[in-house]
Amino acid sequence: MVNSLLHRASFHLLPGRCLLCLAHTLAAADICTGCHDELPWLGPHCQRCALPLGSASRHGQCGQCLKSPPQFDECAAVWEYGYPIDQLISRFKYQRRQLYGSLLSRLALDRIRAASRPDLLAPVPMHWRRRLQRGFNQADIIARVWSPLLGIPVSTDLYRLHYNPPQQGLSAKQRRHNLQAAFALRKNADIAGKHVAIIDDVVTTAATANSVAAILREAGARRVSVWCLARTP
Ligand SMILES: [Zn+2]
Ligand SMILES: [Zn+2]
Repeated sequence: MVNSLLHRASFHLLPGRCLLCLAHTLAAADICTGCHDELPWLGPHCQRCALPLGSASRHGQCGQCLKSPPQFDECAAVWEYGYPIDQLISRFKYQRRQLYGSLLSRLALDRIRAASRPDLLAPVPMHWRRRLQRGFNQADIIARVWSPLLGIPVSTDLYRLHYNPPQQGLSAKQRRHNLQAAFALRKNADIAGKHVAIIDDVVTTAATANSVAAILREAGARRVSVWCLARTP
């Protein structure tokens, strides 16, 4: 059911109306051109972790990345995590509106396509208990929309070892502690020599992406990217 919905050619959440301002849309679009242009598209940002920067820094990277480079090679983010993307993502995750996830993934596609092409998409795994509570893993939904449109397979070899409390509202230190040894890779995973893109909805401290990237590197990944919908400032 979910799959058939995800793979439909278009997602008319409000047929003929813009999802954000309710204006009539003529084209087969869920968002009108005006609202589309006003989305918080990511501006100047760190070339390594995509952290929004007020102006392009001299080195192209943020202070944190220069001081202690992350485990991944680059991060492609589409939006800054602000209105109305934050609300759309929150409806997607917490109100089980998977169609919002499909819509966002499709809107993000042009920018994601511009990033260097990986061999595999690896959605950040969710513990089965959390998945049961939420009903789906948002990173999976995004990867399953992008995979057929980009012709890149999804890897399901990553999994989460522990059931951790939600990361929301935790300090960076608490997050790091939670994430220690949180992920693992199945035995027969074929990662060696591959360029893998970790898929997530929002990158906040990059701690999750770092933990997953470390596992992929250990397994011999040639290059690790992070692809996300939004990056928090
Ligand atoms: Zn609109
Ligand atoms: Zn950075």
